[in-house]
Amino acid sequence: MPSRFVVITALLTLGVEADPPPVAPGPPPAFDERLADHADDVADYSLRATLDPATHSIHGEGTIHLRNASAAPLRELWLHLYLNAFKDASSTFMRERVGGRGSEAPREWGRIDLRRLALRSATGARDLLPSVELHRPDETDETDARVPLPSEIAPGESVDLEVAFDDAMPSIVERTGYAGTFYMVGQWFPKLARLEPDGTWAHFPFHHLSEFYADFGTYDVTIDVPAGYVVGATGPVVERREEGGRVRERHVQADVHDFAWTAWDRWQTLEANVDEVDVKILYPRGFDAIARRDLAAVRFALPYDSLRYGRYPYRVLTVVHPEDAAREAGGMEYPTLITTTSPWWTPPSVRLPEIVTVHELGHQWFYGLVATNEAAWPFLDEGINQYAETDAMGAWLGSGSASSALGLSLSDAAIQAVAGDRGVHDEAVAQAASSFSSGADYARLVYSRTAALIATFAGVYGEDAVARALGDYTRRFRFRHPGPQELVDSFESVLGREASATLRGALFDKGWVDYAVDELRSDAGPAPDGSWSGSALVRRRGTLSFPVEVDLVAADGSTRRERWDGHGDWKRFAWHGRAALRGAVVDPEEQILVDQIRENNQGTVDGAGSGAPRVLERAAYYMELALQAVGP
Ligand SMILES: [Zn+2]
Repeated sequence: MPSRFVVITALLTLGVEADPPPVAPGPPPAFDERLADHADDVADYSLRATLDPATHSIHGEGTIHLRNASAAPLRELWLHLYLNAFKDASSTFMRERVGGRGSEAPREWGRIDLRRLALRSATGARDLLPSVELHRPDETDETDARVPLPSEIAPGESVDLEVAFDDAMPSIVERTGYAGTFYMVGQWFPKLARLEPDGTWAHFPFHHLSEFYADFGTYDVTIDVPAGYVVGATGPVVERREEGGRVRERHVQADVHDFAWTAWDRWQTLEANVDEVDVKILYPRGFDAIARRDLAAVRFALPYDSLRYGRYPYRVLTVVHPEDAAREAGGMEYPTLITTTSPWWTPPSVRLPEIVTVHELGHQWFYGLVATNEAAWPFLDEGINQYAETDAMGAWLGSGSASSALGLSLSDAAIQAVAGDRGVHDEAVAQAASSFSSGADYARLVYSRTAALIATFAGVYGEDAVARALGDYTRRFRFRHPGPQELVDSFESVLGREASATLRGALFDKGWVDYAVDELRSDAGPAPDGSWSGSALVRRRGTLSFPVEVDLVAADGSTRRERWDGHGDWKRFAWHGRAALRGAVVDPEEQILVDQIRENNQGTVDGAGSGAPRVLERAAYYMELALQAVGP
């Protein structure tokens, strides 16, 4: 998902040239490119889905093959029935949504009804349906079902589950549903929760702010729609037949952990091969120019992210651009299929389709290939991906990736810093999605704060070092399920122990920092030898410590750059020079994006302000304007 600040960023994207030439990414850090070829298959799905547009329903049936990859015998299964989030107002999802932005209920509710669940064996099939526990005591939510097993599944043993189900699609809401004859079909089948190595199931109801977590496997899905409908789905088409007024399209994709699809009788198609991947943009009539912009974003970001985070391993990528009436379907990631957004009339200077497309594409790594638990640690997908988005947008459009209007150059990263600051003392970045007090703090901390933190590490320790840390992390944990410790370890192995401790404090302990120029002294002079002396006192407030640069500025305009390791609460810099000390600036290159208070980063001996407003102050000002424009 994109954050709400996408809108703000795009609003600020004024005056950038309409079609900047793609910037070739710099030479990537030298990675070991012997990447894992495949995931460890745990849950394979063979499904057939038949769409009936007259009733907005989908009948599904097929087989789920489960291998007990854990170390413990299994006595139960957990199935996510996430379409039931839209069953009525009593679901966990809808109750959490009340009062939030866009909290209207869908016009038509949706649901998934499990018709068959049976354990296949040599002697037949054992019906599990009567024992399914749809909800827990005192709960009304029906998205997280427990299935007791009649007998244990031993470690290493596999079973086949026969399933049949009926989906009633809701009117389009939160990235799922229908609008007229348009269908965006996500979270539509009974899906096994993630089986952890110790044999426990990481299962949870569909929360409003949290997303998904599942095991890798092969999805073999045949989608059956009326003739005239165009289908877009996870994985390549391996078989297509048209007969009896129906189109049947079979999509097969290995090494993924979800499957989503769209069908519409009005899809237009734009196709291109990008970096040996068959890219298909599905878009409504009248969106030709926007579709070309979506494709331009893929042309830049697909090879860029592949260099940074390890090669995109799939043959296909589908970008779904819903029409304005179905924009709730926009801005979502599924394996090899993403949805983007922006109205048909979006002017070239407003970079909304580019930003959302680049963001959702980044999720192919931060969610898709590095399959973290999004409910427990949302910052690991949305936060790092927000950094990946700002990094790619910056590489593509330069420092004015957000705005170059009025002679200002304002980066996407600077906006993330200002947005993230607003929640830093409220609660920790690294916590479960359902633990956040509000959607606003979730957006500020999970998305913006994480992105600004990583950008700060890039500023302080070098972009190459951070690219190396993230690149090692994404390569090592490709097709795997790392947690925060693995991320912190990757930073430690490249940036060192002090940096990783800082990262940990920033993520888990509401860590903050404010560097300030506090006291400047210039002794009466000059001394008999013609020299001037004085000093500058620089403070570090807060709990985080970064090495920082300090510029000492002389009365003749010359500057002397000092470096402070950031240890201790303060440091006094002595001045001896041919001219008197006039002022000092801490962090003159604005490397520490998370510096809480920018206004105190400079001072002069006579107490006068140092002149030009700084980039982050301007970012704060424009954020205010933009927030007023888009409302609460
Ligand atoms: Zn996202």
